[in-house]
Order: sequence, then structure tokens, then C-alpha cells
Amino acid sequence: MKHDPNCIFCKIAAGQIPAKKAYEDEELLVFHDINPWAPVHLLVIPKQHVATLADTGPEHEALLGRMLALAPKLMREQGVTNGFRVVVNNGPDGGQEVYHLHMHVMGGPRPWAKG
Ligand code: 5GP
Ligand code: ZN
Repeated sequence: MKHDPNCIFCKIAAGQIPAKKAYEDEELLVFHDINPWAPVHLLVIPKQHVATLADTGPEHEALLGRMLALAPKLMREQGVTNGFRVVVNNGPDGGQEVYHLHMHVMGGPRPWAKG
């Protein structure tokens, strides 16, 4: 599996940096954002290192589909019942700060810190 030794999310996926996990399987990991914008703020990542959404190709279609399909299940499990938001920041103009593909899934009562 592709891994970048300097990547913070690869380190979380490898258990080298602690995170509050919400879901895990062979190819995906979900954990709580360390600086949440919303009452419930999860990050869904592939365990393999993929830097950005723009670096994905046809071989990642199933993985991307699984990431998105997980969102409603995660929100139900977290007790979010009134809607939620899914965000993927991509590249510098997209506001991406961590260059390991991740999907923000946010829910809970407003107001939120961002958006
Ligand atoms: P981006 O702007 O790249 O879409 O978002 C990166 C997100 O990762 C930010 O919301 C930030 O709070 C979160 N984050 C960065 N470093 C860590 C960390 O070490 N642990 C956790 N749980 N979240 C992190
Ligand atoms: Zn990585």
C-alpha cells in the first residue's frame, strides 16, 4: 500500500499519531477532526497515500464511491439527524492544507465555525 513517511494522515493511518477513530476497515479510516468546524466533524481518508482528489483516476472510483457512501451511515451513528455537509478541499485554491486525500463530513446544530 502506498505510504508517505512525511504525511501526517499516513501516520494516523499507521497508528503512529493518535486520533479519535469513528470507523475503520481495510482501505478506509475515519477520525474526528482535531479542530472541528461543526459539532460533529469527521475526516474520511483512504489508508493508501493519495495526495489530492486531482491525483485520482479510474482505479480509485470504487474507493471514492465507498468514501461518499459511508457519510450517511457515519452521521447516523454520530446522532446527526438534521442534515450534514460533505467537503473535499482540493489543491491550493481549494484550501487544501493536508496533502493526503480526505473528505470532511460535518453535522450537528448551527452555527458552525466555518461555512
Ligand atoms: P484541509 O484544509 O486539508 O481540507 O483540512 C485538513 C483538516 O485536517 C483540518 O480541518 C485540520 O483541523 C485537520 N487536521 C490536521 N492535522 C490533524 C491531526 O493531526 N489530527 C486530526 N484529527 N486532524 C487534523
Ligand atoms: Zn498520506
